[in-house]
Amino acid sequence: MDEIDDLLDEVEQKYCSKEENTSNKNRTKLPFQKETNVLTLNVPKSKQSELDDIVNEIMNDDSLEKPYKNNSRRSSTHSQSSSSSQEESKLKIKCSEILIGGTQAQFGAASHFYKRVCNQIHCLSCDNRVVYFDNYEWNEESCDYLVFRNNYPDFSRLKFVLHPRNGFRAYCCQCSWLYVKEPIELEKCKPNFKWICKKHNR
Ligand SMILES: [Zn+2]
Ligand SMILES: [Zn+2]
Repeated sequence: MDEIDDLLDEVEQKYCSKEENTSNKNRTKLPFQKETNVLTLNVPKSKQSELDDIVNEIMNDDSLEKPYKNNSRRSSTHSQSSSSSQEESKLKIKCSEILIGGTQAQFGAASHFYKRVCNQIHCLSCDNRVVYFDNYEWNEESCDYLVFRNNYPDFSRLKFVLHPRNGFRAYCCQCSWLYVKEPIELEKCKPNFKWICKKHNR
């Protein structure tokens, strides 16, 4: 056994020294292989960072536009409707106030004249789109934050806290939920909800 060990040691030493030699002498091979390895490893990363850059650019572009859009929105919704027609065609319509309602309510951008129910609601708290389920109400007793945190937005996964109820509409995002039948302003029934209108196509 000792002999074998010795032999193994010898082989190992030779092998190691050979490798060292080749890596020292024959530089073209090993470093090249290493480089290609590094390259192949780096390609996805660099691509990703390229993508990140592109995404960042787009985000930055958006943020460049946002202050302008936000200003027009913040100043008042009237200024948006009174802005130039060219600007209007570019902008989508935002609800003057968010209305929610049951299945009988008409979807669309709400204005002072058209009391329509918003179907483009976005939650600022969890940064998710608000989804809704027609002819259902939430079984409030079984609803809690974790239910929505874990199961939003799949109907099949939320079904266990939904209860069929004609005419009602159950809304939820990943952090908040409500159900309603008669159209009502969100502000009036859930003033603490951070739900906003993400604008409607013209
Ligand atoms: Zn809306
Ligand atoms: Zn939310």
